[in-house]
Amino acid sequence: MTAVPVVIGVRAQVGAASDAVAAPSPRGLVDTHGRVHRDLRISLTDRCSLRCTYCMPEQGNEWLARTSILSTDEIVEVAEVAASLGIRTFRLTGGEPLLRADIVDVVRRVAAIRGDDGPVEVAMTTNGIGLPARLPALVDAGLTRLNISIDTIDRQRFADLTRRDRLDDVFEGIAAAAASELRPLKLNAVAMRGVNDDELPDLVAFAMGVGAQLRFIEQMPLDAGHTWDRDSMVTREEILEKLGARWSLEPVPGRGGAPAEKWRIDGGPHEVGVIASVTAPFCGACDRLRLTADGQLRNCLFSNTEYDLVGVLRGDAASAPGSDARVEGIADMLRSCVHGKLPGHAINDPSFLQPARGMNAIGG
Ligand code: SAM
Ligand code: SF4
Repeated sequence: MTAVPVVIGVRAQVGAASDAVAAPSPRGLVDTHGRVHRDLRISLTDRCSLRCTYCMPEQGNEWLARTSILSTDEIVEVAEVAASLGIRTFRLTGGEPLLRADIVDVVRRVAAIRGDDGPVEVAMTTNGIGLPARLPALVDAGLTRLNISIDTIDRQRFADLTRRDRLDDVFEGIAAAAASELRPLKLNAVAMRGVNDDELPDLVAFAMGVGAQLRFIEQMPLDAGHTWDRDSMVTREEILEKLGARWSLEPVPGRGGAPAEKWRIDGGPHEVGVIASVTAPFCGACDRLRLTADGQLRNCLFSNTEYDLVGVLRGDAASAPGSDARVEGIADMLRSCVHGKLPGHAINDPSFLQPARGMNAIGG
């Protein structure tokens, strides 16, 4: 554990459902390499309506026990302390966040949190299935941005890749998002050899057609089946080469801490992004932390270390909800997690060990 100053004034945040203002932190969540952490990704469940090959096994997944999944009260409690320490964006993910029965409540309560410089942002990454029925309530609850994943626009490929014949449901989710007020709308696609590498420009054209921005993600070694192969992965260079055969691409400056590098297509206004975690890591600007559905904090997707926040929330020595000691315990754990962050991930190092959890359990 790092030595942590007492977090003054956070107590008022815990359990508050609306306009309480978190006290500014004297230091915020700054790691030993000077990176200021502003973004917390919260996995709401490890369960999913799809079984993407690069993420989950077809069968035999060991699901988290339902009792080990954080409750909405616990999530809000952590988010309030995180906001008091400088977190400004909460991204809800999974697994599939829309499978969480109380998703609207989660969004409403997290969106009601205020940091010291205003309201926080609540974004969601989803496969889009079931979105049309829930989107109005989610927007009303305060959802500010959506990323929807779609790796192919070919029905058979989609069924093979996700092991579910549900491309039409994803199209409907994207159409609902496109018709909503949420902007920018981003579509995520993992580029895969022999699966969709011949339709990368078509995916971009599809996204442009619905007013969304496509972001290609290099496939990462986070599949539960441990089948990732560096030699066959589709790289950033290859993605740009394929897109460059159809359009002229001009780099967009001012990336900041964003994971995606962006290019303007044929002079604009459309843009395309590439998240090149493997061949062009962006660890130097990383401002993200993750909370797994069972209450473990992680400072990197690829780390093998987890910080046991659930022990603070539910352990034998857990303090009463709303108490100063409990708030300080949560803040301590967030700071320890940030303090332990390495300068970069090691997936390009021969000694790299893939995390035991798959992407669905870490929270993408
Ligand atoms: N179910 C939601 C979805 O698919 O958008 C949210 C969770 S999913 C784990 C979040 C993102 O992680 C998705 O865009 C997905 O494509 C991406 N992802 C999952 N496994 C990946 C891997 N091995 N490499 C790269 N991206 C991956
Ligand atoms: Fe489910 Fe998302 Fe993983 Fe696909 S990438 S299996 S949609 S969690």
